[in-house]
Amino acid sequence: MIWYPYEQMKGMKAPYEIIDAEGVYLYTKDKKLIDSVSSWWCMIHGYKNREINDAIKSQLDKFAHVMLGGLTHEAARKLSDKLKDWLPGDLDYCFYSDSGSVGVEVALKMALQYYVNSGNLKKTKVLALTHAYHGDTFKAMEVGDDEDYHFILEAYGEKKDCIHIDTDIPALEEAFERYHEALNCFIVEPLLQGAGGMRMYGMEFLKRARELCDQYDVLLIFDEVATGFGRTGYRFVSDVVLPDILVLGKALTGGYIGHAVTVANHKVYNGFYSDNPTHAFMHGPTFMGNALACSAALKSIELFEKGNYMKRIQRYEVIMRREMEGFYDPRIADIRIMGGCICIEVTEEKVLRGYQDYAYQNGVFARPFLKYLYAMIPYIIREEELVKILDVMKAWFTKD
Ligand SMILES: *Cc1c(COP(=O)(O)O)cnc(C)c1O
Repeated sequence: MIWYPYEQMKGMKAPYEIIDAEGVYLYTKDKKLIDSVSSWWCMIHGYKNREINDAIKSQLDKFAHVMLGGLTHEAARKLSDKLKDWLPGDLDYCFYSDSGSVGVEVALKMALQYYVNSGNLKKTKVLALTHAYHGDTFKAMEVGDDEDYHFILEAYGEKKDCIHIDTDIPALEEAFERYHEALNCFIVEPLLQGAGGMRMYGMEFLKRARELCDQYDVLLIFDEVATGFGRTGYRFVSDVVLPDILVLGKALTGGYIGHAVTVANHKVYNGFYSDNPTHAFMHGPTFMGNALACSAALKSIELFEKGNYMKRIQRYEVIMRREMEGFYDPRIADIRIMGGCICIEVTEEKVLRGYQDYAYQNGVFARPFLKYLYAMIPYIIREEELVKILDVMKAWFTKD
């Protein structure tokens, strides 16, 4: 029996059973649904993409997986070379893992050990944002700020090693001034905080964060597990403000196979590279660099470049703004749009009760949470399909 995620199993509404999927569509026995959430934001090329399928099949005919401990292979090497060229600045060293949460753990562990290796044992605190979400593993939960995890506080008491601030420049400056000696790193979901409620903020905050990190010798970590690959309208936010460590996941493999990569710059890598064996990075997930995942990722990046995705995402943003212009309902607190993401925040959770079934009846799969009705669209969606998603959202407010 399946134990489903984020659900009280007692009395849980039956999930929709998917029997086929192609392009932006999910198929149940009797419905064809546009997937407005891209399967938790990762399925950017849609389902059953022939080229990704073929890339995986051709790797499968060689081997599905070999470990990276003492072994290596072409797909992992090619992906690392591609990322080295494709990612901005000197983000050149790729550490693979099997999920975004683990990628975040890897980043935080790297940052911690970086200062320990340098002989600084004081820098152990993490600065993070209120409403942050960085994954479901323990350190990721600790640096996150999600009410759903507050049972952790009940069990363990206050978080000692993590400080949370709002996306507010004076608060940022104050935190650096006050804690810089103990500060190890600042981790953020840049520009768009996803699971914390699709909260959007400005580039100025990140630019100031970069300056302060340089000034006070603190590592800057961008968790672009959700924002990477165009979601914010930037290819990567890292293209504009360069972090020391970048984490990618979700869309990395085009959503085909769980995989993540934690990419370090030269400064971080050189903090480990030495004659001292205890300075080595002690981590190694069994499935890191999985050959099928790396093949899918390589093809996904190729499609992203070839298909001019950044242009498309800009166009989607224009369509969303056009369609939502002037739309108002007293139950709506805010409408936010950025790149390939739209969020309607309502005034009370109960406003969205029943929306998922309503959308289902109207040919859209949606998964609103708390006060957030959102779409994270696949980048192959056609204009009329996008408009349909938005029409169903709007109709929810105007239907009665
Ligand atoms: C989804 C997500 C993660 C966790 O990724 P998993 O693959 O689910 O472990 C981490 N950070 C952010 C910003 C995410 O959106």
